[in-house]
Amino acid sequence: MSEIQRQIDTLRTRIEEYNYQYYVLDNPSVPDAEYDRLMRELQSIEEKYPELITSESPTQKVSGKADSAFDSITHLTPMLSLDNVFSEEELSGFNQRIANRIGEQAERSFTCEPKLDGLAISILYRDGKLERAATRGDGNIGEDVTQNIRTIKSIPLKLRGNHPGLLDVRGEVFMSKQTFDNINQEAIEKGEKVFANPRNAAAGSLRQLDPSITAKRSLSVYFYALGTAQGVELASSHFHRLMKLKEWGLPVCPEILRVQGQSGCESFYQDILARRESLPYEIDGVVYKVDEIAQQSELGFVSKAPRWAIAHKFPAQEELTKLEAVDFQVGRTGAITPVARLEPVFVGGVTVSNATLHNMDEIDRLGVKVGDTVVIRRAGDVIPQVVSVIMERRPEEAGDIEIPKQCPVCSSEVEREEDQAIYRCTGGLFCDAQRKESIKHFASRKAFDIEGLGDKLVEMLCDEGLIENVADIFKLEKEQLAKLERMADKSAENVIQAIEKSKTTTLAKFIYSLGIREVGEVTASNLAHHYLTIDTLIDATQDSLESVKDIGEVVAHHIVAFFKNQQNLEVINQLLEGGVNWPEIEILSEDQQPLLNQTWVLTGTLIQLKRTEAKQMLQKLGAKISGSVSKKTSVVVAGEAAGSKLTKANELGIKVIDEETFLAEISRFQEIE
Ligand code: NAD
Repeated sequence: MSEIQRQIDTLRTRIEEYNYQYYVLDNPSVPDAEYDRLMRELQSIEEKYPELITSESPTQKVSGKADSAFDSITHLTPMLSLDNVFSEEELSGFNQRIANRIGEQAERSFTCEPKLDGLAISILYRDGKLERAATRGDGNIGEDVTQNIRTIKSIPLKLRGNHPGLLDVRGEVFMSKQTFDNINQEAIEKGEKVFANPRNAAAGSLRQLDPSITAKRSLSVYFYALGTAQGVELASSHFHRLMKLKEWGLPVCPEILRVQGQSGCESFYQDILARRESLPYEIDGVVYKVDEIAQQSELGFVSKAPRWAIAHKFPAQEELTKLEAVDFQVGRTGAITPVARLEPVFVGGVTVSNATLHNMDEIDRLGVKVGDTVVIRRAGDVIPQVVSVIMERRPEEAGDIEIPKQCPVCSSEVEREEDQAIYRCTGGLFCDAQRKESIKHFASRKAFDIEGLGDKLVEMLCDEGLIENVADIFKLEKEQLAKLERMADKSAENVIQAIEKSKTTTLAKFIYSLGIREVGEVTASNLAHHYLTIDTLIDATQDSLESVKDIGEVVAHHIVAFFKNQQNLEVINQLLEGGVNWPEIEILSEDQQPLLNQTWVLTGTLIQLKRTEAKQMLQKLGAKISGSVSKKTSVVVAGEAAGSKLTKANELGIKVIDEETFLAEISRFQEIE
């Protein structure tokens, strides 16, 4: 056997295998771009050695096969494929071939259609009633999917208007991007296999032996061709025939346009390409069809595709490349994200060398190792994703991906979040990756409440290297601030004064300011009242923490992890040495509670607090909470859109305060405590 024949055989075997995975199993293992490359390679060898072409070659026949699990249907007229072009030069070649056959025509009309990425369907209507429906199969014999097709809501069971007596109409069944995302999300939640793309999801959903499964998948359809039509006069333009389909009740893609010449086709291509991401369905290119039916007939067909139509494919959104390494990045909140470092690959119109791997669960789900050949997807401006692994191409030396034990930025210990796939750095106050966020939180209103030290100034101070952690705030000098952009002497002075003033705080606020995960104001206050000093809190064990009101295992764990970190403790020390202080907390006996014997009513919507939090705060201060306003009510807290209770309070002359005042009063009491 010649070397060329061997090459051809290898290519044909691989293409046949990929066809089987794609058309029969609805589960391709390689991206379309890889398949298209192999097909083109085979085509170009066959062009050079036409004597080696056989009728069985995948270049010569419509790919696909009717699965024997379904009854088979012989199409009235064959369902063909489409040839494709990838560039304007190749498109010129297509136009030239047309001109060579039927003569030059400067402004030939073309109908331009999006190339929907689903699967082809042929539906036969007899006397206006849906009789049968078939997949393309091998082009001559398809699978009987009549029952499944009947479940698709947009497909009429009966035609409208003056329809043909016999109509064989062709279209594409597809799944919207939204439905695809929903179905895959559900599959991930159930630990089931996800579909590679909307095309496979549509094919897998339609080719079901149980039509009730198809019914649940919300498939859609657009029709784009007439196979056979008897009993009515048909228009001489393909475009007008499609418009007629709409009159008969058959959905047609709203983007379809009739244009003149190659330049009209190119504009359509550019327009649809620019809107590709915002279309609700997946497309992999556009199709141009010679519009005059008489010209179509003159042009005829090659073995597997019409000469009068061509698919102009978009740049591939999925490609193959090698995973060279995995790095770990630390986000603003300490979340550690694995990032794939790739052998650079051109995909979705740009060269990609990094892709997100989301989290460790995603790595497990993909089963990916360093050294693997992976499928990368880049659609629009979305961050490139690793879609799947080509297991057959795994090298022997492929290495497992392991989460680092220490934060790659600050070397603090890394913790896994309970019940979640997220790993986090525990160096919240110290870690460079998190410092801006921790400082912003520290200075914010409910924390140290440093007036003038807003998010922008924090960003600037960090970027200028003037502060590295929250303790550095108290080392700032007026001159340093005054040098900053848009910072006058006066405002610098004000900020320094606000910093000075903030030094005296409460233990509850101090704890809250540290930004321990899931420790909000109420938890911080509970901790302060339970442990009374910061040192006792630092030494608290997991068990002890879990005994504090409202603190469960997870929060207790975050607290222990936070205080176990030496760097965090170092920052706390610096804060205290820098003059941060608070009055000692006195343990209140029952009769010391300031709101004892008072009855409070909460009404309307509170914005800053949850109703339960407000209730807890009041109860801690000794107040009773009542659901209705009476003469015995001491105070009514009226949130937004307060109604009848507020009216009644006003009628009875009871003290009413809004949420702001309530918060102010509560914090005054807490300071007293
Ligand atoms: P095709 O998908 O390139 O083109 C023909 C098909 O386009 C038609 O059958 C129809 O279903 C569809 N189509 C969508 N909109 C249309 C419109 N407006 N008018 C007419 N037809 C429209 O051809 P094909 O032979 O079905 O499939 C070949 C392609 O499938 C390859 O180029 C490759 O991208 C993909 N494929 C991939 C693998 C894989 O392993 N990844 C395997 C086989 C095929």
